[in-house]
Amino acid sequence: MPELPEVETTRRGIEPFVVGQRIDGVTVRDARLRWPVRADLAAFLAGRPVQAVERRAKYLLLRLDDDDRILIHLGMSGSLRLDDPSNPPRKHDHVEWRLDNGRALRLHDPRRFGAVLTDRVDAPHERLEKLGPEPLGPTFDGAYLATRFAGRRVVVKQAIMNAAIVVGVGNIYASEALFLAGIHPMTPAGRLDRDECHTLAAAIRQVLAAAIEQGGTTLRDFLAPSGNPGYFRQTLNVYERTDQPCRRCGTAVERTVLGQRSTWFCPACQPARD
Ligand code: ZN
Repeated sequence: MPELPEVETTRRGIEPFVVGQRIDGVTVRDARLRWPVRADLAAFLAGRPVQAVERRAKYLLLRLDDDDRILIHLGMSGSLRLDDPSNPPRKHDHVEWRLDNGRALRLHDPRRFGAVLTDRVDAPHERLEKLGPEPLGPTFDGAYLATRFAGRRVVVKQAIMNAAIVVGVGNIYASEALFLAGIHPMTPAGRLDRDECHTLAAAIRQVLAAAIEQGGTTLRDFLAPSGNPGYFRQTLNVYERTDQPCRRCGTAVERTVLGQRSTWFCPACQPARD
């Protein structure tokens, strides 16, 4: 599933080819994505310029003139690719934007959990309204986490995966950040002291930034004639490493289930609280 680093990598990959271009045409081959694509999308976008490609949480925002925006979500299996429009679309290339530089931006989504929506800068889509801060943005830090965690009994792993607290911390990155911070995933959020909140915020930023940096090496794949952009897998310390030795201390990594999601941790580096 595309996580925040893959979405940011996608943003950086398509940005140079999309910004400043006019939309010459739009083809919706299957409008039945997670929510139906608006029936007048092609007419709504015809001839309009793309002024910027931004990201909020896991939504890509293509900014148009008059403060309109296109929102693209990659869902469970989506990817975007720049193609020659004369190449026949692949199966599951559901939406295509043709640009005046002669390229086509194609949304490929076999499972159709992705989305193509529209909104306005001054009237953000309701999906964006209740989101917490960006983990790599200026307002996310230990002081912010301490405020949000105060008095809360929810376990810290679930707290940092809650998009109302901070966006884009998926299962992999939550597990890895808690390992780096030396915090047991089942610790009640309200029991972290201020120093631990600072350490955790820094660890979240570190794992996401590292993943984005590694993704940069795949950017050329957005123009590759075959296949999807090659997403990447950074060296993981605990995620999916049940019973393997901790890379720091050699203790066997353990797996537990929290909120129906598997969670991995090192019982020595991340001791449980009494
Ligand atoms: Zn360890």
